[in-house]
Amino acid sequence: MSDAREILRVALPVPLPRTFDYLMPQNGTKPLPGARVEVPFGRARRIGIMLDAAEHSDWPREQLKPVLRVLDETPLFTPELLSSLLRAADYWCGAAGEVLFGALPSRLREDKPFPRDEDEAWSLTIAGRSALDARSRCGSSLALLAALAETPLRADELDALLPEWRTAARRVRDAGLIETIVLSVRNEWHSKPRSQSLTEAQRKVLDQILALGEGFRPVLLEGVTGSGKTEIYLELIERALRAEKQSLVLVPEIGLIPQMLRRLRARFDAPVAVLHSNLADGDRSRAWLAALRGEAAIVLGTRSAAFAPLPEVGLIVIDEEHDTSYKQQEGSFRYHARDFALMRAQALDIPIVLGSATPSLETLANVQAGRYMHACLRARVHARTASPVHVLDLRGLKLHHGLSPALLAALDDCIARGEQALVFKNRRGYAPVLLCHACGWHARCPRCERPLTVHRGRARLLCHHCGYAQPWPRQCPDCGTQALAPQGHGTERLEEALQARYPAIPVLRVDRESTRRRDAFETLLDKLAEGKPAILVGTQMLAKGHDLPNLTTVAIVGVDEGLHSVDFRAGEKLAQLIVQVAGRAGRADKPGQVWLQTHEPQHPLLTTLLQGGYPAAATELLDERRASELPPFSHLALLRADAKDRAALDAFMDAAKAAMQNVLATSPVLEIQLNGPLPAPMPLRAGRHRAQLWVESNLRPPLRHVLSTWLRRLHELPQTRGLRWSIDVDPVDVY
Ligand code: ADP
Ligand code: ZN
Ligand code: ZN
Repeated sequence: MSDAREILRVALPVPLPRTFDYLMPQNGTKPLPGARVEVPFGRARRIGIMLDAAEHSDWPREQLKPVLRVLDETPLFTPELLSSLLRAADYWCGAAGEVLFGALPSRLREDKPFPRDEDEAWSLTIAGRSALDARSRCGSSLALLAALAETPLRADELDALLPEWRTAARRVRDAGLIETIVLSVRNEWHSKPRSQSLTEAQRKVLDQILALGEGFRPVLLEGVTGSGKTEIYLELIERALRAEKQSLVLVPEIGLIPQMLRRLRARFDAPVAVLHSNLADGDRSRAWLAALRGEAAIVLGTRSAAFAPLPEVGLIVIDEEHDTSYKQQEGSFRYHARDFALMRAQALDIPIVLGSATPSLETLANVQAGRYMHACLRARVHARTASPVHVLDLRGLKLHHGLSPALLAALDDCIARGEQALVFKNRRGYAPVLLCHACGWHARCPRCERPLTVHRGRARLLCHHCGYAQPWPRQCPDCGTQALAPQGHGTERLEEALQARYPAIPVLRVDRESTRRRDAFETLLDKLAEGKPAILVGTQMLAKGHDLPNLTTVAIVGVDEGLHSVDFRAGEKLAQLIVQVAGRAGRADKPGQVWLQTHEPQHPLLTTLLQGGYPAAATELLDERRASELPPFSHLALLRADAKDRAALDAFMDAAKAAMQNVLATSPVLEIQLNGPLPAPMPLRAGRHRAQLWVESNLRPPLRHVLSTWLRRLHELPQTRGLRWSIDVDPVDVY
């Protein structure tokens, strides 16, 4: 009996929200959903992904062509991953084909052989072990030998642990200290015994989570950094492992992978596949395939690791769930890895744990609505109390490079005690403005019309919005005087000022520039962990979970602008930032102090935050969002577009709006509000005009419905050359 469903629906990597129909291949092998197929496309051939079989096509049968070849007997996508990705494409307005291909490591997008199956790993030789024992090497060579002391490691694992290991590897290999060996696939999954017992609070939280059972029941695990959340993740992973189930662990950025990997390695003797965007493609494909074949017990990675195939998965953990790095903010598929992981956990009916010291308002709203369980770890495992926060009222004070006398006194004390301090300032560069004192001119980006940031080390003015750079002018282009002066303070200037004040101790700057080399940040942290007095100056790179036991004083300066942003999420982000940065102080046995400088000590957000902590601030912010019907109490999608030509942009936005009005007129949904077209909060960037159209609804289903119809219409609009557009569903910022 022949199957009546002979039409094969195939996704191709094209930016259109549609699929393509083909006939069965002539040799009759029917591809399974999720397998790659080669198909004729126009005059060329393309690789596509088989989606499903159907009885009918909207196209006349004689126009359909057969699939040329089936590439995979075993599909590259598990059925769950395939359907979750299609659901995600629909939810975030992506094109199915682009979304599926975007989820694959690029080597697997083509018709190339898979990377070799066995794992090659680096291992210590006997000479290497003695060199390690004798410490006869130093620096990165010693670090590499030490990393290999316990177990051989694959290149992808070394990439995650010691980003610059390759140079060292060449050196020590030539000296005969390490060699490559072939690992047989490790099928044994074991946990090592825990070195300490859980605290009472941890035990309680664990029991609470375990009581929920095996099904889909999301948990918010709220607890400050150091409260023992990771230990809870490890307990849950151990249980999954014992049941021979895979676990997926997401962290928001690459810099957080090494410490999580170390914790996993210390606890489990089981293969971990690491997935992030900085891997060489071979390693990425290998990790992906290890996940697909169920060989990887644990998949650890950043945003895109949410796309890993997980045939045997039993647990998902999202660490720092509030972090906006989980949201893809570029391109045409702007997904949210946390929300995608939630979709998958629901489809798979498995537990998912969202951990954070400062949960997102979205997640808290889900807790309030009873959709998520809320587990709390209130205190740090190793510290007595949270560090007190002192507010420094700047009004009327004379400042020294933006720092108040009381703050400088606190820094003096800290250094005198032989401890470390952190000065947080969320602004890179030397100064945010270069101003002419004679005539008032200031340097602006010709492509964005925003002030250029002065970078002293590089003797340049840079635009932080588009990357435009120019030399530092000697004289004012308007009046010709030499009265140009940097205004305000960035991290570079604070570094200079603090180094001048404390010449005897290292002042270390941590921002995207000073840590451009991949291991620079890690090296710096290792140095700081030794505990000698030092001052760290830096941007929000410093906010993330690193343990510096001798860091006792934290100063937060220049956050006032966050109190007046046009972005409705600014308050939430500021509260999270303050709490995260403050959390760096007083980790071990030493009490910490936090100093917050502001011109607005009475601002309600700051007052609530200081009196009631993050939970109180979040509750208040949620109430505000509810009252003004903003997300998460309404649902928002932005159409963003930009073009060099202002008229083309306006014409597109008007047509887009008309298309939406048309969609609304023909569907019986009324709960949709349109707002715009409006200029974006930054109306010009990199020489391109930018506009937005807001589409809002109190209900999710009608919004999704109109968006998918609208998306198809938008693709049908005559496309002006040079115009770019995208739809951002649940945007995390509105710029
Ligand atoms: P978080 O993930 O919330 O930042 P961690 O799980 O990393 O917290 O715990 C913070 C520190 O306390 C870590 O150094 C960890 O090894 C240690 N720790 C966690 N739980 C315990 C425990 N039950 N007993 C002793 N030390 C613990
Ligand atoms: Zn001038
Ligand atoms: Zn610019």
